[in-house]
Amino acid sequence: MEALGLFGGTFDPVHLGHLRAAAEVRRKAGLDRVLLIPSYLPPHKAPGAAAPAADRLRMVELAVRRRAGLEPSAVEVEAGETSYSFLTLRKVRALRPRARLFFILGVDAFLEIGTWREYRRLLGECLFIVTGRPGFELERARDVLGGRLRDAIGPFPPGARAGGRLPPGRRVFLMPIRALDVSSTAIREKARRGLSVEGLVPRAVAAYIRERGLYRGR
Ligand code: ATP
Repeated sequence: MEALGLFGGTFDPVHLGHLRAAAEVRRKAGLDRVLLIPSYLPPHKAPGAAAPAADRLRMVELAVRRRAGLEPSAVEVEAGETSYSFLTLRKVRALRPRARLFFILGVDAFLEIGTWREYRRLLGECLFIVTGRPGFELERARDVLGGRLRDAIGPFPPGARAGGRLPPGRRVFLMPIRALDVSSTAIREKARRGLSVEGLVPRAVAAYIRERGLYRGR
C-alpha cells in the first residue's frame, strides 16, 4: 500500500530542521513520499504576522528541489482560508484515495492537539507520527491524550513499514530522530537584524529571503 506523510506547518520560513525531520521520518517509516503543506494564514493581520502564503509556499518548493521523496503541497495555501487539519486530510484523501496517510508533527505541535478542531475524529481517520525536537521530551506526548486514546500511543516498531503491517489499535507512533535545534522564530530574528541565515535554511531559501527582503524590519 502506498504510504504518504503529511507534514504541515507555518513554514515561516521552512528550515533545515523541518527537512531533516521529514527526510528521517520518511526513511525510518518507509513512507513513499512526504508532502510539506504550508498553512494559509490571513495576510497582514497583526504586526509581525507571517510572510505571505505565496512566499512561504515558494520557499518550500525551493527547499525540496532535489530532495528525494519530499514534495510541496499547495492544498492549504490554495484554499485561501485557515484550514483545519481534518479538511486538509479530506482533500488529500480525495486526491489519493488508496494511500495510507500519516500526519507528521513535532512533539511541541502534538502537545497542542487537544485544541485542534475534531481531533478525536482525526485520530480515528488517520495515523500520526510524532518526532522529538530539542527542548521537548518525546515521551511527553503520552500525557496528552486521556482515556482509551492513551493506549493508542506507542513507538514505531523498528523495521516496520508504514505501508505494511502495523500494531493493531495504535494510532500515534512516537519516533525519535536526530533533530536539529533550529526554529523559524530564530531565523526570522536573524533576518530582521540583517544577519545571514545560511546554514539554517537551504541555500536557495536563504537567497530568496535576501532577494525578497523577507522579515526585514519586522
Ligand atoms: P516558529 O518558530 O515560527 O514557531 P517552527 O520552527 O516551530 O516555527 P513550524 O512551521 O511552526 O516551525 O513547524 C511545523 C512542524 O515542524 C511542527 O510539527 C513542528 O513541531 C515541526 N518542527 C519545527 N522545527 C523542528 C525541528 N527543528 N525539528 C523537528 N521538528 C520541527
